[in-house]
Amino acid sequence: MTDLLYQTDSYMKEFEAKVSAVDTDSRAVVLDQSAFYPGGGGQPNDIGKLASSNGVVYPVEKDKKQGADVLHFLGGDQPLPEVGAQVRGEIDWERRYALMRTHSALHVLCGTVFRDYGALVTGGNMEPGKGRMDFEFERLQGELVGEIEAAVNKEVEAGRDVRVNILPREEAFQIPDLIRTKINLLPEGISKVRTVEIVGLDLQADGGTHVRNTAEIGNIKVTDYKSKGAINKRIYIEVV
Ligand SMILES: [Zn+2]
Repeated sequence: MTDLLYQTDSYMKEFEAKVSAVDTDSRAVVLDQSAFYPGGGGQPNDIGKLASSNGVVYPVEKDKKQGADVLHFLGGDQPLPEVGAQVRGEIDWERRYALMRTHSALHVLCGTVFRDYGALVTGGNMEPGKGRMDFEFERLQGELVGEIEAAVNKEVEAGRDVRVNILPREEAFQIPDLIRTKINLLPEGISKVRTVEIVGLDLQADGGTHVRNTAEIGNIKVTDYKSKGAINKRIYIEVV
């Protein structure tokens, strides 16, 4: 089982860990704790480096969640560290921080569009610096794009705090805002719910990494929108 350090500290760039399992065929190692985000909820997995105590540095090319473990796939051709070995992980911070700004920007978009137009989100995806979000948003037309862009940047400038909480399932289910974001679809086995709140604007059950304050996001550009049918619309953003 990997302790997910990014869940409580999304600004952790480096960490110490112990190797708890190794799969030589896929060159994957499981660590007892990790700050690498393994992907999910539209946010891609982190990449970076893993250094062993005897000086070997492996590129971390990919990571993914498998049950309660995070698998770190190591590049290069050096022999893998052994089970029990002490290692040091380092995240590609430039890329991850861009993803944090982008992910938080998408939540600002989601909260603003719901508040101003009552439109619900149906999905989203992102890469560093750009993302898209799908809404049930029948009224969306070209002339609303400028209005939405102005409104989201106002929320960035307002410097709203972004708070992460880990709650017991029963408690989370009492929060009306979370019910709107379909928290009831969470698998039954999950006893804790992690929430990300942009204070005064948006609250969601979310596993991703976010900035501490919307002021860190920078300028949000609404670059395009697309009709995916009468009701479903897709909005594209970039953060600069
Ligand atoms: Zn999210």
